[in-house]
Amino acid sequence: MTTEPVLPRVRPEIAALPPYKQGKPAAPDGFKLSSNENPFEPLPGVVEAVRGAVTLNRYPDATAGRLRQALGERYGVEADEVIVGAGSVALIAAFIQAAAGHGDEVVYPWRSFEAYPGLVMVAGASSVQVPNLANGRHDLDAMAAAITDKTRIVIVCTPNNPTGPIVTSAEFADFVEKVPSDVMILLDEAYTEFVTDDDAVDGLAERVYESRPNIVVLRTFSKAYGLAALRVGYAIGHRRVLDAARATQIPLSVTAQAEEAALASLEYEPELRARVAEIAVRREALVTGLREAGWQVPDAQSNFVWLPTTDPSVAAAFEEAGLVVRPFPDGIRISVGEEASRERILDVARRLRA
Ligand SMILES: *Cc1c(COP(=O)(O)O)cnc(C)c1O
Repeated sequence: MTTEPVLPRVRPEIAALPPYKQGKPAAPDGFKLSSNENPFEPLPGVVEAVRGAVTLNRYPDATAGRLRQALGERYGVEADEVIVGAGSVALIAAFIQAAAGHGDEVVYPWRSFEAYPGLVMVAGASSVQVPNLANGRHDLDAMAAAITDKTRIVIVCTPNNPTGPIVTSAEFADFVEKVPSDVMILLDEAYTEFVTDDDAVDGLAERVYESRPNIVVLRTFSKAYGLAALRVGYAIGHRRVLDAARATQIPLSVTAQAEEAALASLEYEPELRARVAEIAVRREALVTGLREAGWQVPDAQSNFVWLPTTDPSVAAAFEEAGLVVRPFPDGIRISVGEEASRERILDVARRLRA
């Protein structure tokens, strides 16, 4: 008989959390379409920039100053109105830690980014999940109505991961009017570069944080820029609001290599944009094919599509075909990847509907 060792005590709500599960790697002839990764290899210039960052014995620049400067110039803000983190998920964590603790609430749409519930719990705060509309869009009226004097943060995710639709500029402006000015709004735009709908809110182009210092816009280099492995994202907003996240952020977590890669990516913007445009074309072809096969696919404005289903055999059928997808209790998210993956997805999708 083996006896269980006595383990150190941790917070009960943490002990109850399931550990993070990454999508399995795909078989050699399969496709990994479970993490919304960019299917393209990095641009040669970006690889060179990383190779050039060979100082490994020194800590990186703690605030990624050159990258903040470059992003500031690009978006017409001061460098201290930009914060860089080890992926935008690290920044979301830092803002939640800074604003919401025990007894406080964070309101967000559901289903949305799977990281939100865990980040709220780790901060000791409570989640208030507002169900999406049947078409996968945020129910912004219900979200506004869910705000109480306990609310410290409300998160808007556009395009929404994993359901796909955007929030429009008009909808966002209307929503912001209903949010008390002392409640932080995190506008999570992780997929904004893939958007082709002109009505979509674009927090940086519209400078939404200017008249409303409670709004913080979050972006990442992981998705459109294809730097998921390096972990680098950023947020733009009022400098004093960002100061709160600077205080809670884990110091020195953005590596020198990540900063160099991000800087180089900004230099190769046209090449990267061409790839993003290609992914948007593939996405449209995939959505059209799935709808023709009889699936109710919500509007998709990112690099993934959402198949609403509660039937566990659907995910199994994709896996058997060598397609690693991301199953959820109420649907399946499939990333837009290699061109050759589409016919295989559509074959399975048609078979399931036949
Ligand atoms: C991928 C993603 C992020 C950030 O990812 P990082 O790799 O941490 O930058 C943020 N929000 C949503 C909704 C995402 O899907």
